[in-house]
Amino acid sequence: MKRILVTGGNGLVGSQFKGTQYTYFSSKDCDLRNTQQTEDILKDNWGAVIHCAAKVGGLGGNMKYKGEFFYDNIMINTNVIESTRKYGVKNLVCFLSTCVFPDNVEYPLTEDKIHLGPPHFSNYAYAYAKRMADVQIRAYREQYGLNYKSVIPTNIYGINDNFDIENGHVVPSLIHKCYIARETNTPLTIWGSGKPLREFIYNKDVAKLTEWVLDNYDEGEPIILSTSEEVSIKEVVDIIVELMNFKGEIIWDKNKPDGQFRKPSDNSKIKHYLPDFKFTSLYDGLKETIHWFENNYINIKK
Ligand code: GDP
Repeated sequence: MKRILVTGGNGLVGSQFKGTQYTYFSSKDCDLRNTQQTEDILKDNWGAVIHCAAKVGGLGGNMKYKGEFFYDNIMINTNVIESTRKYGVKNLVCFLSTCVFPDNVEYPLTEDKIHLGPPHFSNYAYAYAKRMADVQIRAYREQYGLNYKSVIPTNIYGINDNFDIENGHVVPSLIHKCYIARETNTPLTIWGSGKPLREFIYNKDVAKLTEWVLDNYDEGEPIILSTSEEVSIKEVVDIIVELMNFKGEIIWDKNKPDGQFRKPSDNSKIKHYLPDFKFTSLYDGLKETIHWFENNYINIKK
């Protein structure tokens, strides 16, 4: 059996790879910003690497900690990809993000548009660091002939997320805020206008698609993992409020940022390879996530 190392193994996506072939490493086991520590875990004759580890955050975190987001991600990716090569692992999948795309680009986003202009100002440090992982992977494919590739998922949500209100992504933040508002009979405050559009993908779907990519995809160009269905933040709020049975007041805080208005992506490539793949609906995914959140409130990351 091929032994597969998962970095970020305790995270939103990494934790969703299931099976005895997987070994999970998290920041508790190893600091991937450190070259020696990274080499120590990659030495061990792995059959493949799924590289999910990253310093991540939502709009808030990205705007506040630009230096850390740049440094940590550049170091983590450089160390992981280089150590994977150095210790003879032939197959690697690396996670990028739709933040890597230029702010000013013709929609929909396709895999060939990553480097066509500067990213959005709110997350450029993270975006440039992630773009360099794409560069590193292409360079390694060309120089060393390795089957390394990257995936670009849209906004991922699901169980085992980070539910930090200030720095987390929109779905976990909203779930957590709605929970507090319901329990304390206070208003639920949403950032921005509610009008921005996003494409959400359930973490379990991301893991299934990535398993396919690992075994079957062998192109230098990344592959977008997306439902290509845009949903407004307002629609997400409506579903969460319904599922959490929140009856209180909702405040739209226009002093908080909207971020990018939309970033629709084209999922033709993954659809071409997997025409029958059934994405989990946002409603079902949120239902499962909220159920898990309510049952694990004491132990969740927040
Ligand atoms: P993005 O897709 O990289 O911008 O990341 P996010 O997951 O942080 O989504 C941000 C969008 O959700 C923006 O339009 C925000 O205005 C909106 N939003 C509404 N409420 C919240 C919240 O409590 N936290 C976050 N992160 N975003 C929120």
